[in-house]
Amino acid sequence: MAGNWKMYKTAKDTRAYFEKFLPLVKGCSGREIVICPPYPNLEAAVEDTAGTGVHIGAQNLYWGKEGAVTGEVSGPMIHSIGCTHVIIAHSERREYFNESEQDVTRKTKAALEAGLTPIVCVGERLAERESGQTASVLHEQFQDGIGPLAPDEFAKIVIAYEPVWAIGTGKTATPQIAEDAHKTIRNEARQRFGEQLAAAVRILYGGSVKPDNVKSLMAIEEIDGVLVGGASLDPVSFAAIVNY
Ligand code: PEP
Repeated sequence: MAGNWKMYKTAKDTRAYFEKFLPLVKGCSGREIVICPPYPNLEAAVEDTAGTGVHIGAQNLYWGKEGAVTGEVSGPMIHSIGCTHVIIAHSERREYFNESEQDVTRKTKAALEAGLTPIVCVGERLAERESGQTASVLHEQFQDGIGPLAPDEFAKIVIAYEPVWAIGTGKTATPQIAEDAHKTIRNEARQRFGEQLAAAVRILYGGSVKPDNVKSLMAIEEIDGVLVGGASLDPVSFAAIVNY
C-alpha cells in the first residue's frame, strides 16, 4: 500500500502527518506500507517512522551515482538516509519531464544497484484507451522500459499500473478495466521473464483510489496493492486505505 505525496507538504506537515497516521496503522499486518514524500521531507519521514515498519521512498532519482548534474538526486543519496523505495516514471514525470522508456530502464537499474525497491509506473492515456490502444501501449512500455532488465533485477521490482486518465481525476478504473490491464502486464512479464517471475511480481493499481473503492479493487486477485496520490495526503484516509 503505497502513498505518493507528489509536491505537497513541508517537513513540519510531515511530522504532524505521522503523529496521526502511525497510531492508525499500528498492528496492521500482512501488508507493506510505503510513503513517498518530496525530497526535503525524506529525512524527517525516515526518522518519524523508524521502527514502525512503515517504509519511506522517493518519487524519482537520477541514474548516475554522483556528478555535475545540477538539481538531480542519486540512488545512493536516497538510500543513505534510510529510504527503501523509489517511484520510477510516474505519468507526471513522463508527461512534464519527457521521461522515456530508456529512462525507465536506467533509473530502475540505478535504483536496484543502490539497494532501493523501484515502483515502476506504466499506463495508457485517455486517447490511447479510447482508440483501443491500451494493450499495445502497455506492451511497448513493458518491452522497452522493463524488458531490458535482467531476470534477477525484474524479480526485485514492483510495477504500478496507473491509467493516466484516472490519476487525480476522481475517475477510478472499474475493477474489470484494472483486472484486464493487470493481466496484460502479467502476460508481458510471462513472455519475457517466464511463469515463475511473472506470478511473483507485485502489480499495484493507481488512479483515484479512495477509502470507499479500495476494497473492491483489492478484491481482485490480480491487484496486489495500490499506489495512492491525493488520498494519501490525509492520514485518516490513507490509514483507512491501508486497513481496508
Ligand atoms: C498517483 O499520483 O500516483 C495517483 C494515483 O494519484 P491519485 O490517487 O490522486 O489519482
